[in-house]
Amino acid sequence: IYILGIESSCDDTAASVIHNGKILSNIVANQKIHEAYGGVVPELASRAHQQNIVPVVHQAIKQAGITKEDLNAVSFTRGPGLMGSLLVGTSFAKSLAYGLSIPLIDVNHMQAHILAHYIDEDGFKKPPFPFLAMTISGGHTQIVKVNHYFDMKVIGETIDDAVGEAFDKSGKILGLGYPAGPEIDKRAKQGNPQAFKFTKPKVDGLNFSFSGLKTAILYFVQRETKTNPNFIKENLNDICASIQYTIIGILIDKLKKASKETGIKHVAIGGGVSANSGIRQALKVGEQKFGWTTYIPKFEYTTDNAAMIAIVGYLKYLEGYSTEQNIIASARLKI
Ligand code: ATP
Ligand code: FE
Repeated sequence: IYILGIESSCDDTAASVIHNGKILSNIVANQKIHEAYGGVVPELASRAHQQNIVPVVHQAIKQAGITKEDLNAVSFTRGPGLMGSLLVGTSFAKSLAYGLSIPLIDVNHMQAHILAHYIDEDGFKKPPFPFLAMTISGGHTQIVKVNHYFDMKVIGETIDDAVGEAFDKSGKILGLGYPAGPEIDKRAKQGNPQAFKFTKPKVDGLNFSFSGLKTAILYFVQRETKTNPNFIKENLNDICASIQYTIIGILIDKLKKASKETGIKHVAIGGGVSANSGIRQALKVGEQKFGWTTYIPKFEYTTDNAAMIAIVGYLKYLEGYSTEQNIIASARLKI
């Protein structure tokens, strides 16, 4: 069974072809244009998707070594995401499926970040049900109890900023480029995580809050640069390490709590921030300390990609699922 996956929810145009759960191609076109603005500009993102989508899909099919007539279904991201971006992928997927007379399958982007763990990949095990998934990305921070592929319940989430935003906004304060997550990660490896202390927010239950941290970092930097204008430059690695240490502490505390409350010891992460080396390390420590079995996605399936959309398409295809041509994109689609 050959499935094409198309992803266009934010600023990456991506397409992937999967054969019976194994990835044959995984193409991502990043949009560099947003770097100059320090964040994604929706209108520009939508226009770039329009330019990229045909060559990206073409390349995915070609690299898979098949022709479009070999495809059994087309899956696409229906939401959540930026409406203008989603519309490009949705319209394209509809036309392609219609033209080829094959099933059209809609996919929830946040479910896909979780179900990326079911891609057949040597050396990667698939989590057994039920398991806990912490989705940590640019727009979301959730702890999800996954009972089955399409039976998921959000048991905790952020009440303000997403964890990816915490990385990106902190980076902006430090004068780093967008997105700042990867750079903070890189610098954190050379810094002392105990150099500076930032207080963790107090939030009830399994929910998160990250907006206070960003403000704390802003005030801290303003205070220090008053006495030493070169403070950021001289301490950048230590500041990055301390910020990352604090964020990971917040994430692990809640994950620990969720595991205790549900009695579930199979713990997975997904989403762009799961590329972070610190959180990957912390999960490994959790295996020894809390008896967890952890599931960490392969690097290329962490940030936005179409392989995860294709695998969900495949899982839905196996259940005999398909959707109608009149389906519409949904910017705020829930799990
Ligand atoms: P959502 O999935 O919620 O719709 P999104 O698709 O924009 O949001 P992703 O592509 O999944 O988000 O993740 C992007 C985020 O991941 C950015 O905030 C980026 O800074 C962060 N990120 C990527 N790599 C790292 C890293 N190594 N360390 C920390 N953060 C990272
Ligand atoms: Fe994403």
